[in-house]
Amino acid sequence: MDNYPLIFDIQRSSFVDGPGIRTVVFFKGCPLQCEWCHNPESQSIKSEILWYNSLCSCCDNCFKVCKHNAIQPGHGQNRIDRSKCNSCGDCAKACIYNAMKLAGQAYSVESLVELVLKDKTYFRTSGGGVTFSGGEPLMFMEFLGSVCKKLKQENIDIAVQTCGYFNFDQFEKTVSQYINTIYFDLKLVDNALHKKFTGQYNNKILENLHKLFSPKKHKIIIRTPIVPGITDTIDNLGNISKIIGKLNHEGFEKLIYNNSFHKKKVALGRVI
Ligand code: SF4
Ligand code: SF4
Ligand code: SF4
Repeated sequence: MDNYPLIFDIQRSSFVDGPGIRTVVFFKGCPLQCEWCHNPESQSIKSEILWYNSLCSCCDNCFKVCKHNAIQPGHGQNRIDRSKCNSCGDCAKACIYNAMKLAGQAYSVESLVELVLKDKTYFRTSGGGVTFSGGEPLMFMEFLGSVCKKLKQENIDIAVQTCGYFNFDQFEKTVSQYINTIYFDLKLVDNALHKKFTGQYNNKILENLHKLFSPKKHKIIIRTPIVPGITDTIDNLGNISKIIGKLNHEGFEKLIYNNSFHKKKVALGRVI
C-alpha cells in the first residue's frame, strides 16, 4: 500500500462541495501551508495522530496499547512523543471516547472506487457525484487519474477542489478529461503576501488559472477564502475581481473563514 496517497477523511451524503448529494474525498498533503488552513491535518503527506484533550477521560487505554512507548499516562499536554510514534493507529482504535484520531489512510484505486460507487443511486437521483478535495488532490495525479477513469465509466460526475499549485502538463495528460467541475482557489494576488501567508509564490497558480481558460474545458468556480486582515482587503479583492473580469468569467464564490484550525493544531501537537 506504500505507493498509495493517504486520505484523511471521506464524507458521504454531503450537500456542499458541489451540486446534489456528493461523496467528498479529502487527500492528505498540500504544497501550500496556509496560516489559516482549517484542516491542518491535510498539510503533511504523512499520517498523523490527533489527540483532543477536551474529549479525553484519562482511561489510559491508549497508553496501554502503544507498543512504541510514544504515550505518557495522564493528561499532560505533551503526552504523545511524536518522535516515537509511527502512526500505527492502535491508540485511536483503543479510544472509545474519540479523543484519539488517526488522520491518513491508504486506499487502493479499486477500494476507493468501490466506496464512492456505493452512493451511485443517490448521485443519479440528485444530480450529485464525487468531489476530490484535500489537501491538494492534484498532487496525486496518476492515482487520481486511475480512480477518475473508472468512475467516468460509471458516468459519475467528478469535481476537483484545487489550490492551483499543480503540474499543468501532467493534469492535461492524466486527469483533465474526466473532470466536470474545478473549484480553483485564488487566495492572494500580491506575490509577496502569497509567499508570506501560504509558503509559496503564486506565479504557477495564476499561470495555471489562465491555462484552464485557454481554451476552457471545464466548469470553473474561482473561490477566495475570506480571511480577516489577510485576503479580505480592498486591494486583494479588487485585484481578484480584475483577474476574473479579464477572464470574462462569472463563477466566483467567497469561502467563509473557519477558525476551528487552532483546536486541530493543538490536537496535532503543533501548538500548545
Ligand atoms: S484512550 Fe482515549 S480517553 Fe483514554 S486516555 Fe487515551 S485518549 Fe484519553
Ligand atoms: S499511533 Fe501507534 S505508535 Fe503512535 S501513539 Fe498511537 S499507538 Fe503509539
Ligand atoms: S491550500 Fe487549502 S488545504 Fe492547502 S494549506 Fe491552504 S487552506 Fe490548507
